[in-house]
Amino acid sequence: MRTVVFFFLLLHISMAAGLWPRPAIAAQSQALQLPEIGFAIIKTSRVAVMEGLLLPGGSFGKQIDSNFSAFLIKHRDEYLLFDTGMGRQIDQQYRADMPLWWRPFFKYEAPVLPAREQLELAGIPPLRRVILSHSHWDHAGGILDFPEAKISVAAAEMDVIRHPTRGPGGSWASQISSASIQWDLLKFQPQPYRGYAQSLDLFGDGTVVLVPMPGHTPGSIGMFLTVGSGQVYFFIGDVAWTVEAVKAGAAKFWAAAALVDGHAEQTHSSLEQLRILMRQEPGLILLPAHDSAVQDRLGYFPQWVK
Ligand SMILES: [Zn+2]
Repeated sequence: MRTVVFFFLLLHISMAAGLWPRPAIAAQSQALQLPEIGFAIIKTSRVAVMEGLLLPGGSFGKQIDSNFSAFLIKHRDEYLLFDTGMGRQIDQQYRADMPLWWRPFFKYEAPVLPAREQLELAGIPPLRRVILSHSHWDHAGGILDFPEAKISVAAAEMDVIRHPTRGPGGSWASQISSASIQWDLLKFQPQPYRGYAQSLDLFGDGTVVLVPMPGHTPGSIGMFLTVGSGQVYFFIGDVAWTVEAVKAGAAKFWAAAALVDGHAEQTHSSLEQLRILMRQEPGLILLPAHDSAVQDRLGYFPQWVK
């Protein structure tokens, strides 16, 4: 009898002292455990923009967040980054390559939390590979922070990289012209995948598959990732800025599209192909690089999606 009383007393004390994890904490710590195959969203910065610029039919009086994110992919023992967001040198790069008259319209908010710093803090080993969805400044801003990594791009993107441009829809010399960058060209195969004529199965096991999505830039690419649970995520870079825009079939506000989309017709056909795919596979989860609503729902590094 005394033992039973003692047991209940112990149970009571340990619960009161929080020795037994509460469900929310348990769920969170589970998300922090490393997956076999999964990803984490590294938010490097954000900016509030007029909703009308991001969503068709959106208000120009209301502001919503646009994220500048990098995506950390874990494939068994290997880590790689898809896009970099803003890096350590973004302030100098912005001063060099964003003309004064564009600065009120194209900004990023402090604090900037570069991917490299977030990874080092978490003890993630140095990356050997960074893949760019495309070379625009808000995606390539951190590549100089990964000098030991090869920087993989579609061959078609090298034309842009060899001829950098300034401004909001630019691939900036301050980020991509260093002779020390180890460019690596992705070799797409004539292997159809989910409606795309060409693809590149990165690990040969179908979990990470890259596809060309030209238009926004000539070498824009998307990445399909099948995580441990079997769920498939499709990272689409800047083909569209939000999932809502994809559903509506209107990628970007026309003035913004004119500024940032290199080739309007190609961008439109990449978007149409995406809409066909979404109708065929409604379970697919789309991740536009800047869509804060989708990213907020999935959570941020060091939380993993698995
Ligand atoms: Zn872009």
